[in-house]
Amino acid sequence: MKTARLQSSRLPASPSLLWFRDDLRLSDNPALAALAEARAPLAALYVFDEDSPGIRPLGGAARWWLARSLRALAADLKDRGVPLILRRGPANRVVPEVAALLGAATVAFNDRAGAAETKVDHAVAARLLSEDRRVLSFCAHLLHPPGSVEGASGGMPRTFSSFHRAALKARRLDTPLPAPKHLEGVVHPPEGETLESFDLEPTRPDWSGGLRATWTAGEAAAQARLAAFMDAGLTGYAEGRDRPDQDHVSRLSPHLRFGEISPRQILSAVRHAADADAVPLVDADKFEAELYWREFSYHLLAERPDLARSNIQRGFDAFPWRECPGELKAWHRGLTGYPLVDAGLRQLWQTGWMHNRVRMVVASFLTKHLLMDWRAGEDWFWDTLVDADGANNAASWQWVAGSGMDAAPYFRIFNPVTQGEKFDPAGTYVRTYVPELAKLPAPLIHKPWTADTDTLAHAGIRLGQTYPRPLVDHGAARERALRALESTRK
Ligand code: FAD
Repeated sequence: MKTARLQSSRLPASPSLLWFRDDLRLSDNPALAALAEARAPLAALYVFDEDSPGIRPLGGAARWWLARSLRALAADLKDRGVPLILRRGPANRVVPEVAALLGAATVAFNDRAGAAETKVDHAVAARLLSEDRRVLSFCAHLLHPPGSVEGASGGMPRTFSSFHRAALKARRLDTPLPAPKHLEGVVHPPEGETLESFDLEPTRPDWSGGLRATWTAGEAAAQARLAAFMDAGLTGYAEGRDRPDQDHVSRLSPHLRFGEISPRQILSAVRHAADADAVPLVDADKFEAELYWREFSYHLLAERPDLARSNIQRGFDAFPWRECPGELKAWHRGLTGYPLVDAGLRQLWQTGWMHNRVRMVVASFLTKHLLMDWRAGEDWFWDTLVDADGANNAASWQWVAGSGMDAAPYFRIFNPVTQGEKFDPAGTYVRTYVPELAKLPAPLIHKPWTADTDTLAHAGIRLGQTYPRPLVDHGAARERALRALESTRK
């Protein structure tokens, strides 16, 4: 993209426009920092764009988050005297239109990933440049711009470990930028639309009660979450991150998704804590590696724009996926009869988030036990996750299904019972999200169908009525999945 970085002294005093996208924060926001340094009057813009070709409309939970995040951002900007203009429509019409109404000399934004988004951004930049406006763009959503991490022979490394090794060589631990101290807002900004007119939050029915009870969106909440994780979660992360019954993961994913916090801010906090011996190195390194899985997904998306629709390993194009709407519905609702799977899917429905270990188990269950296409699961997650992310979601589904880059081998089929016994040994997680099983003793909670009649009666469970029998038998489903895999190799 033909853009320019400017020296502050050369910027004219005409207004500047900051176009916010997946970067809904004031600190460590290079586009904002550049405009603040220039000291021209500033207006901010958010475009709700469901009209540009190829842009995937947000799912329900992400729309809910976006509304709250924009409210928080508008308030933070208002405190500094800067208006946030909300507009709806295709960005390559709306951004130039607002820039013209404002008389903006400069428009700045931070890059987005995704082929369709990049195409839109190039079109917007070209139009603005053709109208003699300056365009500034920055990389702020990732630690490494997509495509910049290369293996020894050039191109994106094919495995995560080689990607991670190459990235660490290129890694720079720059200090995150503070939020600008002084901003001057334009006095008469072009008119915008109301947030309510975007219709982002559910009303009839309002299914968002569980989300409201779980999350606070916005930059201040993201920073508070990071601080809480640094205090209480990071020590023990390397082992505890696999335990859905414990509190050892950061839950920063939706904040990262919407750019309320930057990966650089997170990494910087973690590395400083490790350098100061405030947290064990093993935990800091493991956590950093997870942040690099996110980088890996984004590199993959840059290389495979159709990541959410096409198998990376084309051998999977012939895979005999089953279509069974009834079983898919049971999976959606957390009624598969496998308690860990059901707990995960209900956690997702209630809170808009699911623990990573359980995401892997429910995804394996859908693609292997039920033999259903990973795209059906990816779609459901897209609609229900507050952190639904075009790179991480598709890459992770393909990873579990076995069709992805450096994927889990197809024959690795998680046993939902032993996964539960290992990672939720007392059944605390299952008891939280599958309350009808709460009274079962721990040795039975991950396999209620093995309990005798008296135990079930004592726990108030009628199998097949108050809680379903298993949708499939694990051993038989495993054999069926392995046979299906063989058929694609012939
Ligand atoms: P932490 O363990 O605290 O990790 C910190 C950050 O590192 C995360 O916020 C995330 O940005 C990154 N990260 C952690 N684990 C992974 C991983 N396995 N892959 C990529 N990045 C990772 N993550 C999303 O952000 N959006 C998605 O839509 C998404 N869909 C997924 C679908 C499936 C089937 C699976 C198996 C995983 C998916 N993940 C997704 C990855 C992972 O489950 C979440 O990032 C993680 O659970 C978020 O919780 P956290 O912030 O507490 O993670």
